[in-house]
Amino acid sequence: MVDDLVIEVRELRKDYGSFPAVRGISFEVRRGQVFALLGTNGAGKTTTMDVLTGFQAPTGGSVRVLGADPSTERDAISPRVGVMLQEAGFFDSLTAAETIDAWRRFTPGSRSREEALDMVGLADRGRTAVRRMSGGERRRLDLALALLGRPEVLFLDEPTTGLDPEARHHTWELLRELTLGGMSVLLTTHYMEEAEFLADHVAIMDQGRMVRAGTLEEIRGDAASTIAFRLPPPLNSADLPPFDATRMACDASRTKLTTSTPQGTLLALLAWADAHGVALDDITVTAGSLEEVFLEIAATGRETR
Ligand code: ATP
Repeated sequence: MVDDLVIEVRELRKDYGSFPAVRGISFEVRRGQVFALLGTNGAGKTTTMDVLTGFQAPTGGSVRVLGADPSTERDAISPRVGVMLQEAGFFDSLTAAETIDAWRRFTPGSRSREEALDMVGLADRGRTAVRRMSGGERRRLDLALALLGRPEVLFLDEPTTGLDPEARHHTWELLRELTLGGMSVLLTTHYMEEAEFLADHVAIMDQGRMVRAGTLEEIRGDAASTIAFRLPPPLNSADLPPFDATRMACDASRTKLTTSTPQGTLLALLAWADAHGVALDDITVTAGSLEEVFLEIAATGRETR
């Protein structure tokens, strides 16, 4: 194993009976990296996470976490990893502090109760029974438990679902600080801004396959740019000539051209406006986003189903 390789997935397949939930995906995560698995509902993200955390055995291919096989060597790996799944199994009658204390008994070298609660913004909720905590507070308590043993690798399945925007940003800052210290993260999320804030590498899954993978910059670079502007009345978008490599759409106030060659399209648009004495208003050019790449993949996937 290369020294800083913490997760290796090679041609992973996972079938549930005759249903292929994951159909041969490969990727790597290195020390200190955040790898975001994105994808449509049912794409196979949680299944991949379950195999990597040893809850499911793969049907085919191979998986290594910190150099070991999670399905057969889970005991060796688990002290070095933290896991936060979509559903937490809490004892509702315990308080937040008692929950941390219970986990600390089984977690060698763990953080103190105070540190664990404080790092997820629950310092003042220690005496609250878990059953009285809000959904977002429970999610943060679950994150505190995942971080309790100072893991080298953290698995997070939709970690900020249900968190208010402030708590979400707090969580992102915390994770960024911990990854700067060398912790690696495999994350699934439906929030594109979460992946854009946290991830170095991104993979987009659809129907069990990895459709796109690369650095955040590479994936974003695949997205088309948008040129938006307002036409002076009585003109409307039907008066525009066809522009190469563009898609046109209009909302209530603006016309939008989607293009993979923004400079050329902008030049053509301005030349047309100049030649016809048209004053375009409120012109903006926006670079492609992860969300656009995702939506394109989701739409293509739907067509092929
Ligand atoms: P979401 O974004 O909705 O959480 P996901 O990408 O995490 O989706 P998975 O939960 O991995 O997707 O599910 C992948 C596919 O496998 C889905 O079609 C799901 O219905 C199916 N599946 C998941 N778990 C099982 C199971 N235990 N038995 C049978 N099918 C399952």
